[in-house]
Amino acid sequence: MKLNIDFEELVDAFEDSSVIHVYHIDTKKSELIYYNDALGEPETVKEKLDTCSDDDHYIYLPPRLPQHDFYIMEMFAYEINDFDIAEKFHNVLEGKKPFRNFQEILHEHPKLREKWFKYKHKTIKNETINWLCEHNIELGNQQLIPEIEIKEMNREAIKNLPEELKGFGPFACLNCHNKEGLKARWFTINLIPENRLVELETQRIMKEKFNINHHGNFSGGKQEILTAAKCPKCGGEEIFWDY
Ligand SMILES: [Zn+2]
Repeated sequence: MKLNIDFEELVDAFEDSSVIHVYHIDTKKSELIYYNDALGEPETVKEKLDTCSDDDHYIYLPPRLPQHDFYIMEMFAYEINDFDIAEKFHNVLEGKKPFRNFQEILHEHPKLREKWFKYKHKTIKNETINWLCEHNIELGNQQLIPEIEIKEMNREAIKNLPEELKGFGPFACLNCHNKEGLKARWFTINLIPENRLVELETQRIMKEKFNINHHGNFSGGKQEILTAAKCPKCGGEEIFWDY
C-alpha cells in the first residue's frame, strides 16, 4: 500500500515510540497518530482504537524497549577503533547502570557524542525501512535510500581485488555438483546492504542489468563487492564459493 507520510517524521516516531508514547498509522487517512498513554489523552483516540483494534487500517509502531537501545549501544561501541575508549565502553556496558554511564562517556567526548547521535539515527532509520518493507508500505514521492550503482569489474580491477579475496572463487554447483567451467563475475556497489530496501533494490538491478538471480556479498573492506557465478551444465546460480 502507498501512504503519504513523511519519512523523517516516521523515523522520529520510531525513535520516540515506547509503551507510553504510542504511535500508530491510520492507513485510510495516511496519518501518523500519537497519544501519550500516561496522560490518557486524547481519550477519544484511544477508545476509538481499542474498540476497533481488529480493524486492519490501524498499524501500531512497535514500542522501543531498553534492550533495543542497548543493542545499538553495543554495536556502536564495537565499531570504536580507539582502544582506550573501546575499553571504557566495554566496562560500562558490562557494569551497572549502563545507560547512564554510557551517556557519561559521551559527555566527556563531544565528537563521539555527535557520532553516536548520527549512528543511532541511521540505525533507527534502517529499522524503519525494514518495518515498512515488512508491512508492504511504500511512502509516496520520497526516496528512502540513495541511488544504487553497480558496476561489473573488468579483468584489471579483478587483479586488484583486496588480498583476502585473492584465490576465492566458485568451487561447485550446489544443484548438480559440477565443478567445471564455473566462472566468477565481480561487481562493485556503492552502498552497504544496511536495510531490506537496499537488498531488494540490489536484487532488482542484478536481475535487470546483469541477468543474475543470486549473488554473494562482501562487506567491511574498503569497497563493497558483489559476486556471482553460473553453472554451465545446469544453469544454476547457487554456487558454493571457496578458497
Ligand atoms: Zn549445475
